[in-house]
Amino acid sequence: MKAVRFHEFGGPEVLKYEDVPEPELRKDQVLVRIRACGLNHLDLFVRGGLRGVNLPHINGSDVAGEIAQVGEYVTWLQTGQRVLLAPMTFCGHCEACVSGQQNFCPEFSVLGYRNDGGYRELMAIPAVNVIPIPETLSFEQAASVPLVFLTAWHMLVTRAQIRPGQTVLVLGAGSGVGTAAIQIAKKLFSATVITTAGDDKKLELARQLGADYTIDHYKQKISEEVKKITAKRGVDIVFEHVGQATWDESMKSLKPGGTIVTCGATTGPDVKLDLRFLYSRQLSYLGSFMGNMGDLYRVLAEVFSGKLKPVVDRTFPLKDAAEAHRYLESSQMFGKVVLVV
Ligand SMILES: [Zn+2]
Repeated sequence: MKAVRFHEFGGPEVLKYEDVPEPELRKDQVLVRIRACGLNHLDLFVRGGLRGVNLPHINGSDVAGEIAQVGEYVTWLQTGQRVLLAPMTFCGHCEACVSGQQNFCPEFSVLGYRNDGGYRELMAIPAVNVIPIPETLSFEQAASVPLVFLTAWHMLVTRAQIRPGQTVLVLGAGSGVGTAAIQIAKKLFSATVITTAGDDKKLELARQLGADYTIDHYKQKISEEVKKITAKRGVDIVFEHVGQATWDESMKSLKPGGTIVTCGATTGPDVKLDLRFLYSRQLSYLGSFMGNMGDLYRVLAEVFSGKLKPVVDRTFPLKDAAEAHRYLESSQMFGKVVLVV
């Protein structure tokens, strides 16, 4: 079968479209014929070199396709079903896993990080990861959902405990998690949503997705605009994933008693923390890492019903994965970049 692999860490040019052996199916696994695989910034970090990544390696955390074969122990799924894959790996038998907190499993990881991901034609995966999708969802759309909607849901609902009518600042409207967070906050919690992006086209698309107010983060100072919009009060929740470049502005945008929740550090991990500011304003700083299977099923229900919509920016054929990586690195996208297999 065909796959895109890299044999050394480096730039997009290390991605090679080549023949690889077909996977062997375990009795508790499902063989999936992959039709689409969504890209994430994680793919770029893994390709560039992260600890724990074995070479050669196959990227890809967000997978959709059809079931090609089911293992002997898998009685609830059938060949031919259209499915997406839960974008994480976990042991399935530790205390955290059986309590439904898979993201606290000692073996928890993102699909395509420490193991091979979805830039390929066939993949064998534990049946617990395989979730049927409705006909209304294309493979490209389905492959745009798992990681970003799971992450955004876990951040806003499970961690920050968003309540109806709150005001939420979503950093980076054009990112996959941004498009998910705007929709969850607006469509499910009737929040007032303020968001940021770097050009007029993205700001317009953010408003179409449901954002009430938009800030151009190149031309405007985020915290100053937030103060104008909220009559100096600040926001209840800041949805962070940008890191170093926006952290100060994010903190200044919080109202007293507000919550900042973060799942990433795309622009760098080193940020300042003034303890006096933290305690005197009674702020909550929350870390969030992906989510658990319960989060995934809850957010998928909203996607499958059509309430939340995957945002596909652009698709590339699998063999052009390097070009797709360059496009993702250029940050021109609004929503997800997807490989069609
Ligand atoms: Zn476990």
